[in-house]
Amino acid sequence: MCSADNEAQRQRRTTDKVIAIDGPAGSGKSTVAKELARRLGFLYVDTGAMYRALTLKAIGGNVDLEDAEALTELAKVVDIQLDMQGEALEVKLDGQDVSGDIRQPSITEKVKFVARIPSVRTEMVRLQRTLAAQSQGAVLEGRDIGTVVFPNARHKFYLDAQAGERAKRRHKELTQMGQQVSLEELTKEINERDKSDMEREVAPLTRAADAIYVDTTHLTIEQVVLKIIGLCST
Ligand code: C5P
Repeated sequence: MCSADNEAQRQRRTTDKVIAIDGPAGSGKSTVAKELARRLGFLYVDTGAMYRALTLKAIGGNVDLEDAEALTELAKVVDIQLDMQGEALEVKLDGQDVSGDIRQPSITEKVKFVARIPSVRTEMVRLQRTLAAQSQGAVLEGRDIGTVVFPNARHKFYLDAQAGERAKRRHKELTQMGQQVSLEELTKEINERDKSDMEREVAPLTRAADAIYVDTTHLTIEQVVLKIIGLCST
């Protein structure tokens, strides 16, 4: 059999065991994806953490965030490891634990410069597909999972919630991490980030035509998880 056939087969095998979750900031997708992965015994892939880690590396190395070529070179060599440690995701960048650093506001506001470069995304997508292919099953969450990373995934969800509720959730999350930020500032930040994610030219945040839309505004995490598990088993 030729290698193109092998590749097609590998892709098909992988897409069968992928749950793709997309949505805007604060829609609940990280918490839900993590819990789903835990219950199903699947790998959890937080793709936002990968873009954040790359941004941290660029800033740490004084790389100009307008320099697409330099950022692409960085994306080709970066070593990003995602591991669950109990209930928490540990993110390692070149062997160093950066789980807290990548969530700092200074990184959050700069990720868009890295995420808008097509050749950087190509590298990140390659890594995401490899992680999923090597797993027994994977829940991937981000902005372009159902549209670009796994357009043929068997199970696709688009999580959303009303803007006020999303800001409140992010506020709670950040406060728990020890970050002090007002609800007002956060609402503004979330709105700007969503706008930039939805309007960028490459892999914008959008609901895939075949993704199931879940409004989580009035649902608990448990309710969303059960709903998705139910829908995945039909
Ligand atoms: O998911 P999280 O909010 O941590 O993602 C941070 C940023 O990374 C997003 O606002 C977006 O710009 C970028 N991102 C992306 N594609 C993904 C995941 C995240 O462009 N699949």
